Amino acid sequence: MYCPFCGAQDTKVIDSRLVADGGQVRRRRECLSCTERFTTFETAELVMPRVIKSDGTREPFDENKLRAGMQRALEKRPVSVEDLEAAISRICHRLRATGEREVPAREMGEFVMEALQELDDVAYVRFASVYRSFQDISEFAAEVDRLRGGKKSGKKGDA
Ligand SMILES: [Zn+2]
Repeated sequence: MYCPFCGAQDTKVIDSRLVADGGQVRRRRECLSCTERFTTFETAELVMPRVIKSDGTREPFDENKLRAGMQRALEKRPVSVEDLEAAISRICHRLRATGEREVPAREMGEFVMEALQELDDVAYVRFASVYRSFQDISEFAAEVDRLRGGKKSGKKGDA
């Protein structure tokens, strides 16, 4: 980075160490031009991307909203709070890993569907039915058929 004193472009790192339990790198730098020294701190950017809704508006990512939606899909299903929380943190990780500042709600919905699919088939179908809504009813029906024909859970009256 440029020297904050004289604006020169060339500065050298004279010391570098981990601080804040390894969550931050502190660097002492010296300007090659004016020889002033200054300190920089480097941290990973863990800001969640904003969510682009289908109408084009943006809203901040809301973990509670995500949790509420997944809980609704998982209502009365045999999935532990720990498993749900682990799934939520995986979704958050994936959202951050996109490296994007804004992520379409649709893409986030896909992450949620994949997570629910791993947790519980019934919850997955519940969520998918709402999420893909009526535009993709054929896709939803195909999904239900696949679940009926595929796995047998041995339980009745869940769906
Ligand atoms: Zn300087």
